[in-house]
Amino acid sequence: MSFVLVTNDDGVHSPGLAALADSASDLGSVVVIAPDRNRSAIGHALTLDSPLRADEIRSGVFSVDGTPTDCVNLGVHGLVDGRPRLVVSGINLGANLGDDITYSGTVCAAMEAALMGFPSIAFSLDAREFTFDDLARSSAVVTYLINTVVSIGLPSGIFLNVNIPSGVISGISLTFQGKRHYGEGIVKKTDPRGRSYFWIGGGENGFADLPGSDCNAIAAGHVSITPLRTGLTSESALQLLADWPLSFTMD
Ligand code: MN
Repeated sequence: MSFVLVTNDDGVHSPGLAALADSASDLGSVVVIAPDRNRSAIGHALTLDSPLRADEIRSGVFSVDGTPTDCVNLGVHGLVDGRPRLVVSGINLGANLGDDITYSGTVCAAMEAALMGFPSIAFSLDAREFTFDDLARSSAVVTYLINTVVSIGLPSGIFLNVNIPSGVISGISLTFQGKRHYGEGIVKKTDPRGRSYFWIGGGENGFADLPGSDCNAIAAGHVSITPLRTGLTSESALQLLADWPLSFTMD
């Protein structure tokens, strides 16, 4: 038996997860395995120092006290019978563009699936809250893209990072990973006992204006589809570094 494995990093109770699972159910059997709480920005973390519990809170919906990458591992390696035909992650609340990619539990869940050889797609909505209209539009995009991936397939080691604009969708673009700017960066404050504390991620985000990038596509109201690869080696830098006078031997 094969199934579509659905996960996210916003947690098992996210409306975005429910919308994704609902769209994926058009393909047949769906299994949802998701973190029991919001694990956004957990990246590609894998839990190795504690046991994992998976509670089936509804039929075919598992709540796991672990990370999105843990959830993909459980879905592939025996929590349920059969193997995924497709792994989808999201729909994340908030875009995952440019520099966000390696922080994102949403994207790294799709990366984990690609590392294991499964076709996978990460979906994110560029919004601060889920509205009925945005979820309906996002579901239509999800249905279209998962049908496309299932019928055509993806090259080995390649997965898709899909971002969906909020509001009316004016197009769909293939993009490359752009460059985000993170406003103030770190906010420093003082707590009631006089000690300093810090918040990372304060300030509004901007982005570099790079035609063809994921950031530009979203700013133009387009769905952005970025094909990503699991192998991070830079082929061009391998050529460049071949000219380094590298020589090392132990005495
Ligand atoms: Mn998230």
